[in-house]
Amino acid sequence: MGKTTFRNGIQMYDGKDLSKNKEISTVVPKGEAVYPLAQHIGLPARPVVEVGDAVSVGQRLAEAAGVVSAHVISGVSGTVKAIEERLTVAGTMCETIVVENDGEFRTMEGLGEKREYTSLSKGEIRDYIKEAGIVGLGGVGFPTHVKLSPKNEDGIDYVIVNGAESEPYLTADECLMTEEPEKIVEGLKILLQLFENAKGVILIEDNKPQAVKCLSALVKNEPRITVKAVKSKYPQGAERQAIKTVTGRKMNSAMLPTDVGCVVHNVGTVYAVYMAVAESTPLIKRVVTVTGDAVANPRNVWAYMGMSYRELAEAAGGFTEEPELFVSGGPLTGTALTDLELPVTKTSSALLVMKKKEAAKRLVSPCIRCGRCMEVCPSGLTPHRLIKCAEQTDCEGFVRLDGMECCECGACSYVCPAGRMLAQEIRQTRRSILEERRRR
Ligand code: SF4
Ligand code: SF4
Repeated sequence: MGKTTFRNGIQMYDGKDLSKNKEISTVVPKGEAVYPLAQHIGLPARPVVEVGDAVSVGQRLAEAAGVVSAHVISGVSGTVKAIEERLTVAGTMCETIVVENDGEFRTMEGLGEKREYTSLSKGEIRDYIKEAGIVGLGGVGFPTHVKLSPKNEDGIDYVIVNGAESEPYLTADECLMTEEPEKIVEGLKILLQLFENAKGVILIEDNKPQAVKCLSALVKNEPRITVKAVKSKYPQGAERQAIKTVTGRKMNSAMLPTDVGCVVHNVGTVYAVYMAVAESTPLIKRVVTVTGDAVANPRNVWAYMGMSYRELAEAAGGFTEEPELFVSGGPLTGTALTDLELPVTKTSSALLVMKKKEAAKRLVSPCIRCGRCMEVCPSGLTPHRLIKCAEQTDCEGFVRLDGMECCECGACSYVCPAGRMLAQEIRQTRRSILEERRRR
């Protein structure tokens, strides 16, 4: 095993007490269910239903449109009401399937049937994962069946289950690890069937002692699996930092985890793998943290894809006072929400709602050259210089300063006393350079 941490990073108020240690409740979707066809990295899915079609829970609405793409599955029963462009959380328009939910939740035949997975072939396991429409639930939504099909299968010596969840306020993974530890361990055993030379490591920060305890007890007699508890430090949950912590191996932005012998999956994804392979259940719901100082009863909920953020807010008792800021995801890497009617998707980890005084703290002023952004950057960058390049659209300078190595953790913005939106500007420039490279 390598060193137990990565360089730099930050420790901060984590706000997790608001929502942890409460049972995960289920929010039953009531209104129309809205399914964007681009909920993942890669090509948007292609509709396989038409307006007027009746659909059931677990039915495929759209199929993967290429090698890197994922199916979209209905979590409700009802009738396809529209296939049209609608706004997404990212602020872009996207082709979307809208299902009028009849509230009956009629299921597809075979949904939920138990399956003996130990006798399945690798191909069968990958097919079940693909059929279930699973994508990475902890990040940008890379299709899981693709991530599990590396060219160097025999060279994979680590399957890392990422339960670090280091971003403040988020507790969805923590609650899942304490409520469903058996399924997470079984999910990891399924993944280890695909990689015979690998050991499984479940990475958890030490601010989640209950999760460490439950999972450690379960893997006590599993020779290929260990639980690694590490000091909590942001961004421990970022893929590169997780790999460095577990294996001591370094990656740069041009490399994939498989290049250093690793596959990394978030705990929610591993749970989804178990459900797909062992219980014939596709990805139709996920755990979402609904929290923030403006939320009446912060908690974690099982949220169905396609339901609105407004339904999640109602399930948490609504707001204690008029909120100022709505965020999909965590405070450092999330996206500000303009509308609570937007749909929950496969990558929705949280709804964070803040009161006016918290949201108004950020007053922007010129850089005072304090160097704090450099001190915390886990990628060893100079964010105050990168933002200059970003402001001057100096892409060459940005690349020369290794801006492409940014893991978009948001730590620099968080610590900047001048309130500068460093991470946001750097992310935008980095993504436009990546887009330009892809276009070429
Ligand atoms: S420059 Fe990128 S990697 Fe470094 S702290 Fe800022 S967001 Fe994180
Ligand atoms: S933390 Fe903010 S004020 Fe300090 S050097 Fe970085 S950009 Fe400038």
